[in-house]
Amino acid sequence: MTAREAALGALKQYFGYDSFRPGQLGIVEALLTGRDVLGVMPTGAGKSVCYQIPAALMPGLTLVVSPLISLMRDQVDALNDLGLSAAFVNTTQDPDEQAMVLAQAAAGQIKLLYVAPERLETRRFRDFAARTPIALIAVDEAHCVSQWGQDFRSSYLGIGEFIAGLPQRPPIGAFTATATENVRKDIVGLLGLREPAVTVTGFDRPNLYFDVVKLETKYKAAWVSDYVAEHPDECGIIYCATRKTTEALAATLNQMGHTAVAYHGGMASDVRERAQRDFITDKVPVVVATNAFGMGIDKPDVRFVIHYNMPESIEAYYQEAGRAGRDGEPSRCTLLWNESDIVTRRRLLDSDYENERMTPEEQEIARLRKRQLLDGMVGYCRTTDCLHRYMTRYFGQDLSGLSTDASSASEDTAKAGGAKDAVRCGACSNCESTFETIDVTRVARAISRCVHDVQQQVGSGKIVKILRGSKAQELSSLNPEQMPTFGMLKDTDTALIRDVLSQMTSDGHLTIAEGRLPIVHFGPRAAETTSPDFHYEMKKLRRKVSARAAGMSAAGST
Ligand code: ADP
Repeated sequence: MTAREAALGALKQYFGYDSFRPGQLGIVEALLTGRDVLGVMPTGAGKSVCYQIPAALMPGLTLVVSPLISLMRDQVDALNDLGLSAAFVNTTQDPDEQAMVLAQAAAGQIKLLYVAPERLETRRFRDFAARTPIALIAVDEAHCVSQWGQDFRSSYLGIGEFIAGLPQRPPIGAFTATATENVRKDIVGLLGLREPAVTVTGFDRPNLYFDVVKLETKYKAAWVSDYVAEHPDECGIIYCATRKTTEALAATLNQMGHTAVAYHGGMASDVRERAQRDFITDKVPVVVATNAFGMGIDKPDVRFVIHYNMPESIEAYYQEAGRAGRDGEPSRCTLLWNESDIVTRRRLLDSDYENERMTPEEQEIARLRKRQLLDGMVGYCRTTDCLHRYMTRYFGQDLSGLSTDASSASEDTAKAGGAKDAVRCGACSNCESTFETIDVTRVARAISRCVHDVQQQVGSGKIVKILRGSKAQELSSLNPEQMPTFGMLKDTDTALIRDVLSQMTSDGHLTIAEGRLPIVHFGPRAAETTSPDFHYEMKKLRRKVSARAAGMSAAGST
């Protein structure tokens, strides 16, 4: 019997499933043939099966390193119900109990043993591991090993050393749903994976339509209200960045005649539970929530998820937006954003660590990490590329930094690579639009010079007016006519100057200092604008290519 047949047999026997999901079989086969594996799949895609089946088939014990003691009992109970002998050792047990479990595992009566990473550091456990044949080590939530991830756990750093100290090194399977390149490199390096087969699957959700809409804050509520009015039979979630916004927006929607309820962590638990229940039972079609909403809520028919503010990372966005369309039916994920969202996020991020007990270096590393995550999110807002492709690529399509062995990339990864040539996905706003790139170098230089002319003392509105050569009374005290930049952009559209200024702010050429009034200052990248090589571009939406309109014009309108 081949490894493949054995794996299929075990899938049917223990789990009752007839076929593997994408990526699973490749991982199972690699582990069964002794290879290390890095499996990157979103939550719910079926990572556990990938090590549970090898565990069932391989002689000897499988160690499962998992960070959450609270989930171990459920996982172990479920496996025992399926006929796979499993147990855990953790601090919820007294020493006698722990010793008994280890004795059973050493005697070969247990196939899967769940432990927290801290356990691997104990003397007793190391002794146990030294005399017990270990067939496989599965590291769940492997991104916890990386300081680049959001859930770093220092105890994960000991796993690599534990593995290196074993008398016989078993294959290692590392699993995670988080997969930026830095995190992946850390997993491979810090766990000591050897030429792992890297599999990244399941991130694309073809039934979701991704939509990015750039919109000034003052128009957002009306946009949402219109959307809800146009989709009267659908239920959806609107995510906001703050508790205050959820309440204000829910109130506005109700005033406009819709039925919406707010949900956030600051509400009394009974009110919150009622909101959740009403949404799940379809009493209330729209919930306006902070990111506190969604954990463990499995409502399959959520037809839209609107983000009222830009989230802090693609990971966060993917998780929240991904609550739409669990039933596989077409659903829409819309992100409303504007340049000031980026500025706000950056500012929050910079002030985030002020009160924490960290050394200045640690704060800087933490900020750098968060900034990198935010850059991924900003990239999503700004890209003119297919949004599905942007997302899957973010979650690991480009594995070149990790492995030089092309064959270690899975079948699915290779397929995702092929998607590069796909023209239009038909399921995102970018593929249904065309963009033009305009060269705004001259505008950006003029803005920068004007900030210099006014000695970083005025707000963006006045800068635009000076550049346009305005005679407005409010400028008179500045003596604008004396400035070299006065009227320098008199033929340029005011809206364009404003857009370029905003983009320069979020790109770091300028910053907005919040005092009594917001004042434009030079940002960390200001000097670039004076370089002779400076080149600055802006993407402009040209028009929507509506499939319907295209069809109509093809059919002819005579
Ligand atoms: P993850 O660990 O990736 O979050 P799980 O391993 O908990 O996901 O799997 C999610 C669900 O999918 C579970 O209910 C599991 O039984 C189911 N599942 C896993 N593999 C398959 C499969 N090949 N066919 C059908 N269902 C599967």
